Amino acid sequence: MPEAAADATAHQLLTRVFGYADYRPGQAEAIDAVVAGQDAVVLLPTGSGKSLCYQVPALVASRSGAGTTIVISPLIALMHDQVTALQARGVKADAIHSHQDAEEQRRVVSAFLRGELELLYVSPERAAKDSFRRMLARTPIALLAVDEAHCVSQWGHDFRPDYMRIAELREIVEAPLIALTATATARVLAEIETRLNLRTPLCVQTGFDRPNLRFSVRALRTHDVRQRVLEQELEGVGLRGRRGPGRAIVYCSTRKVTEKVAKALRSAGFAAGHYHAGRTKLARERAQQAFEAGRTRVLVATNAFGMGIDLPDIRSIVHFQTPGSVEAYYQEAGRAGRDGAPSRCVLFFGAADLATQRRLSSGVASATVEERREASIRAIESYATEPSCRQRAFLLHFTGAGDATACGHCDVCEAGPELLETDSAEIDSAAAIATLPAEALDTIVAAVDRLSRPVGKTNLARALRGSRAKSISRGGLLTMPEYGNLQGFDEPSVVAGIESLLRDGRLSRAGRKFPTVWIPGKPIRGQAPSDRRSGSRAPGSRARPRAGRVAWALDNYRKRQARKLKWKSYMVFQRAVILAIDREEPDSHAALARIPGLGPAKIQRFGDDILALVREHGGSAKQGE
Ligand code: ADP
Ligand code: ZN
Repeated sequence: MPEAAADATAHQLLTRVFGYADYRPGQAEAIDAVVAGQDAVVLLPTGSGKSLCYQVPALVASRSGAGTTIVISPLIALMHDQVTALQARGVKADAIHSHQDAEEQRRVVSAFLRGELELLYVSPERAAKDSFRRMLARTPIALLAVDEAHCVSQWGHDFRPDYMRIAELREIVEAPLIALTATATARVLAEIETRLNLRTPLCVQTGFDRPNLRFSVRALRTHDVRQRVLEQELEGVGLRGRRGPGRAIVYCSTRKVTEKVAKALRSAGFAAGHYHAGRTKLARERAQQAFEAGRTRVLVATNAFGMGIDLPDIRSIVHFQTPGSVEAYYQEAGRAGRDGAPSRCVLFFGAADLATQRRLSSGVASATVEERREASIRAIESYATEPSCRQRAFLLHFTGAGDATACGHCDVCEAGPELLETDSAEIDSAAAIATLPAEALDTIVAAVDRLSRPVGKTNLARALRGSRAKSISRGGLLTMPEYGNLQGFDEPSVVAGIESLLRDGRLSRAGRKFPTVWIPGKPIRGQAPSDRRSGSRAPGSRARPRAGRVAWALDNYRKRQARKLKWKSYMVFQRAVILAIDREEPDSHAALARIPGLGPAKIQRFGDDILALVREHGGSAKQGE
């Protein structure tokens, strides 16, 4: 099967069956390799989505008639969880294990022998039995997956003797093998390779912890301002001129911008090449070779460049335009600093970029796929606009872990959230700022007067412009009647309007740590604004975002369903899904489809209940939060 076609099918399954818009780091590489018939070792942290690395290829195989995937898994409880979760998504999966009675085992075996199962989970002990091996020889097997593969190692802490015999299966079954683990030292990895008899496996190893990378976001509107800031950035990492250590990649969303940026860089004295899919094969090869050999030190490229690129000394990755998902961003930015030396990842962000992404992704896919893309675009918008540690934001996005410590050196950690309050206004001063008419200024004052506590300038401006950024989801900004009333003005103009009101004394400043605005003389209810500034936390604090009543209701619902269905509660839906529903308050099945992590099968099963809960607990109930 050609790789590109396989990938397209795999990606469709990812969205249709699992309900995810994009791969997480490492998944695409593993899935591509296995679908193409190569062995793979996947070493990813717990919670990062290892199972998908064999589940998607399993479905690609079964749905093209290539046979069943055998998953060897050491714990019955784990097996059971996986099978139930897959069945809940409409996948034909089952397990044979010792907690089943003879009749149940027979039922599974005959379904397997009839070729009806897409995935069959077994214990290593079962896999070692002769009866099982005879069974394997009688039906087509597409893939062998070995979960918790470190159990094969005598150096590991959970050595299981039967793992040593898995390699024997490879003599009976002609299929690629994928081994997965979260814990492996180099020695254990080597042992996995030899003991499972892996043939030139692809090793996928992605941690989320990239302490040498400094992530930052710059809110920049116009092309010219971006070009100027880009040149400063590249100059700052010592890349002006023909020679010297290090290199940089500048990612753009379109071919046209790629060419324009590269040309401007060359005339500003940078040794810059460019790469995009619209160039001839020869031109692309030359651009890549020149960059690899160091003849060009900066490569301006679309996302067509980068797969399989492993250069150690990329000191800076600048996204000149915001890409369409956090997954794409993290994958591209993650190419910086492979050698472990300090490197920078800068994202240029502006509302126009989101529009570009929407345009690029529109009209090519089904409504569901487009809805998921929209959810991805909104996730990167939140990443760019939310004042929380960048590294922590990735961890939360990719693993659901919300309690990681702040990295201490991203832009937010360094400057505190007020950075985001000033950045856009400051940088955009190059652009024309409209003077707001008197009614618009009155609207601003009326909005502040209605709020129960002070707000930051930028958040206020965003709410007045009808933004859906997560940072304004609290403090009544979304529910105030003035929300969206100043849609006709751009953000810097509204911010400038707020500043003029401050100068005129119609608004006052409140809060010491984070500058916020307030009505002069009006008492502030509740806590001090510096502690509870809307939508943000001080870097380093471990507080979880406060969830509303919808989240509370959904959590109870999830527990009830889990009991009823004998599922684990996360199989009903995950905490991240609850928080997203709480935030978005979907009011239709279409809106539910935009919630990441909630696939069609779940929507069919639970959708009406969720919508009823949102109707009951959402809306005004949130305002007092
Ligand atoms: P691991 O085995 O690595 O500990 P799992 O395979 O159990 O992790 O996955 C952890 C969670 O992440 C699961 O609930 C899974 O549904 C979710 N997940 C996996 N891949 C993705 C993805 N591409 N997008 C969003 N969520 C994902
Ligand atoms: Zn940080």
